[in-house]
Amino acid sequence: MSNNIAIDGPAGAGKSTIAKKLAKELGYIYVDTGAMYRAMAYYFLQNGIAADDEAAIAAATDKVDISIAYQNGEQCVLLNGENVNPVIRKEEVGKMASATSKYPVVRTKLVALQQQLAAKENVIMDGRDIGTVVLPNADVKIYLTASSAVRAKRRFDELTEKGQECDLAVIEKDIIDRDYQDMHRETSPLKQAEDAVLLDSSDLDIDGVVNKMKEIIKEAGC
Ligand code: C5P
Repeated sequence: MSNNIAIDGPAGAGKSTIAKKLAKELGYIYVDTGAMYRAMAYYFLQNGIAADDEAAIAAATDKVDISIAYQNGEQCVLLNGENVNPVIRKEEVGKMASATSKYPVVRTKLVALQQQLAAKENVIMDGRDIGTVVLPNADVKIYLTASSAVRAKRRFDELTEKGQECDLAVIEKDIIDRDYQDMHRETSPLKQAEDAVLLDSSDLDIDGVVNKMKEIIKEAGC
């Protein structure tokens, strides 16, 4: 039986940075489920499918093939065989992912893929519904959050470092809107699983969060 660690939380809480580091240290495979929703969203955008056109979304979801490959330990999402990692990080794709991840047809397809991965390997999987829906029997569940102001500032610093011009207030508003959308959808809304440990990273740096998580994981015997 494989060991499974589930990390959920809102956008920008540091889930992927932390999960990647932890996976490396523990020798687990890191699975970024948000990237799968982003790949789907990218397909919808490329094909001119509107976020509110549920019939077109359902038809497209049926046709599209999403899979995962690993190159030098890095997860690549393959959309119909093509690695879409370089194009799915844009704000526009994140927004489309949040708008289309509410459809059960989209979720059913991706949840099945996520569950297959977790059944085979020791995984650290991050997302919004991992502890509640995808891996309800995960060995460890962590709900990682931070205030919207802190999350916006981190994103702002990241973009500024890349030389991209941005506005802190706009970033924070987008984060708050995305949280609202993810927490209030009918299917698999973002929420802390009853048996998840809550970790607030507002006042912690990356190593601080990694160390806390290692303690939680150790306590669980993984
Ligand atoms: O984590 P990331 O920002 O890449 O996720 C993009 C969007 O995909 C989220 O805002 C959310 O709507 C959706 N998502 C989801 N369930 C997951 C992971 C991501 O609904 N397990």
